[in-house]
Amino acid sequence: MRRIAILGSSGSIGQRALSAIAAFNLPLSVVALSSHTNIDQLIADGKRFGANALCVTSHVVADGMYQGFEGLEAMLDAHPVDIVLNAISGFAGLRASLAILERGIDLALANKESVVCGGSLLFDRARAHNAQIIAVDSEHAALSALLSAHDRKTVESLIITASGGPFRHVAKEHFKDLTPRDALAHPTWQMGKKITIDSATLANKALEVIEASYLFGFGADDIEVVVHPQSIVHSMVRTTDGAVYAQLSKPDMGLAIIGALMSTPPSVIERLEFGSLSLSFENPDADRFPLLALAFDILRRGDRSAIAFNAADEVAVAAFLDGAISYPTMIDVILRTVDLPWDGTCSSYEEIVDSDRQGREAALSML
Ligand code: NDP
Ligand code: MG
Repeated sequence: MRRIAILGSSGSIGQRALSAIAAFNLPLSVVALSSHTNIDQLIADGKRFGANALCVTSHVVADGMYQGFEGLEAMLDAHPVDIVLNAISGFAGLRASLAILERGIDLALANKESVVCGGSLLFDRARAHNAQIIAVDSEHAALSALLSAHDRKTVESLIITASGGPFRHVAKEHFKDLTPRDALAHPTWQMGKKITIDSATLANKALEVIEASYLFGFGADDIEVVVHPQSIVHSMVRTTDGAVYAQLSKPDMGLAIIGALMSTPPSVIERLEFGSLSLSFENPDADRFPLLALAFDILRRGDRSAIAFNAADEVAVAAFLDGAISYPTMIDVILRTVDLPWDGTCSSYEEIVDSDRQGREAALSML
């Protein structure tokens, strides 16, 4: 049995992983789980899956559990596993990713912020400790599968699909009236709040363009984004002979999650039938969704602006969800933060944390 730990197990990705393991009685032994504040879910899942260890990463006091980030590290040391699913949301996930890789443990990575902010540090850490990073983001899991089936030299570009979110047809003059409730109504995917807002603004697709560039070594000119409202095609590769190859399935994160955790995964998702399927594609609208274009600028800059983008996005989304700022202000704060000078690159975790802090402070000062 493959031994696994799931960090952020109380969230949307963590729960999808556990539901698939239970429903299909998968040969995965759930050794350790963590949540940040949701102790009830953690205890219930710990009992249900017979986990040996639980960790609550916030400072909520919980008897018999590992606690805080140091507790998370102690848990990983005391309870060996073969692979960890990092399903923590936000910048906090980077520290956990580094801790996993430093221990030479393979990392099934849902936390895209680890790649966007960690960049080369993350990959250096994996190489140094002979650990694998396996992408769980559905587009990137699809790209991994497509790239492993094609000679790298024959792949001209990566094509990442975007659902377009709930505001695909909303005119710009109505953006000022959009509420968090409107933005949380995602048409195809059920996800945590932060990523759902990011899907409405296309900030999620921007993070994914950066993630794909860093993961697979393709530059800004060799990554395309196409809006595909049904979310059936997860990503594509365009090859030098003019052909395009795609991965398709029903929109269900089970495919990417279980695909990352098992070497020969069984199907945990509903079968795709073509009879009633209708797929459509359109170009993204850069005028109404400027954050997507920003990702390509960030890649061309090659400085610390990816970290600033992520930090400003976390600050602005939280303020929007709190009702403190409007939808257009949320976008504006992110654009203006990234527009500041972010010269240089980071060569240590401490430098990344410092850039993240600067990004947050800049964004907060604009609220
Ligand atoms: P959720 O908000 O649903 O869950 C987040 C999880 O992380 C919860 O278990 C939460 O604990 C925990 N957590 C929150 N803050 C911290 C922290 N500071 N330190 C440690 N743990 C923390 O998020 P999602 O499951 O939607 O997303 C998780 C990650 O996966 C994100 O990076 C997202 O971008 C990525 N992803 C998600 C997809 C999806 O379909 N949901 C698709 C592709 C990628 P608690 O519940 O106790 O607060
Ligand atoms: Mg995705």
